[in-house]
Amino acid sequence: MDDVMMPTLSLSASQLARNVAAVREHIAPSAVMLAMKDDAYGHGIDWTLGALAQDAALVRFGSFDVDTGLRIRAIRPDARVFAWTTSDDEEIGAALDARLELGIGSSEYLRRVVSIARATGRSAAVHLKIDTGLHRNGVRPEDWAAFVADAAAAQRKGILTVIGVWSHLAEASDAEDDEAAAVFARALDEARRQGITPEDTHLTASAASWWRPELRGTVSRIGAFGYGIRSADGPEIPGVRPVASLRAPVLGVHGDAVEVGIGGVHGLPSTLVGASVGTPQGARPITAIDDIRMSVATWAGAAIGDSVTVFGPGDQGEFDATALAERIDTVGEEIITRLTPAVKRVATR
Ligand SMILES: *Cc1c(COP(=O)(O)O)cnc(C)c1O
Repeated sequence: MDDVMMPTLSLSASQLARNVAAVREHIAPSAVMLAMKDDAYGHGIDWTLGALAQDAALVRFGSFDVDTGLRIRAIRPDARVFAWTTSDDEEIGAALDARLELGIGSSEYLRRVVSIARATGRSAAVHLKIDTGLHRNGVRPEDWAAFVADAAAAQRKGILTVIGVWSHLAEASDAEDDEAAAVFARALDEARRQGITPEDTHLTASAASWWRPELRGTVSRIGAFGYGIRSADGPEIPGVRPVASLRAPVLGVHGDAVEVGIGGVHGLPSTLVGASVGTPQGARPITAIDDIRMSVATWAGAAIGDSVTVFGPGDQGEFDATALAERIDTVGEEIITRLTPAVKRVATR
């Protein structure tokens, strides 16, 4: 019996390293770019980079925003860091100073990056984004040729270097992803026709990188599988297991309900009622969740001092965050990224 008296998120450094290695081996020669948005999917940027410090082959990170990119840069001065969201002018300046690679998904953003690079005498390293159907960010196919022409002109003047062409897949169906891949291929042809020969092409995140080898580019943006988070509706991935495990203490036993010390203030949504958690006697359903605690159906011998595994590897088998998330129609990482600082983080080997 362990004596966790507050909810604890245990983070396994060796599991993180194994996951990254398993993904790398499976997707080679496409390289892993580890996605670190949302504070490394709730695992913490500092902890995650520390846990992977021995992995000499992992030299590429994706940050989403410039601030996160700067945090990565501070810890990994030599790594390649890709910040893909549209940023304001101040952030662009800081990104160029810190040698971040920028994702460019609109003509307007391209113009701002070019003007700041020119004004500061810094060359920008950019990845041009084609919208292949997600309509979130990215240049529409009908505008692509003109956009590429602007980028090519800036490259000829030495203001920037196009090091990548990229997009993001919906991963809703294979057919849609195939169509997106066709749009992507045409965009790449057009870029080459205009004299841009990017060293990088990237289209896929975890699921498509793993299951759709024909869609992989030179690099794959890997978030969920690195942290051991299964895709919604997806099977388990060989060699990939959850890095994070959330446990909470039993605070009281009242008839057929066991009171467990985790609830809304820790980031557990009340809509998780009905989901199963791991007890010393196996899976039991959550029957209620309030701000500071939840009730779980009792088990034989339930006692204060027991602990319950909300997700992750536990003494009684594994409950993954994705199974919880599926109950409330979200993705596994959202269960983890919602956890608040009231949950204690414990680093383990
Ligand atoms: C989050 C994100 C990824 C990583 O996705 P996973 O499914 O977690 O691997 C890759 N690319 C972009 C643009 C993202 O926003």
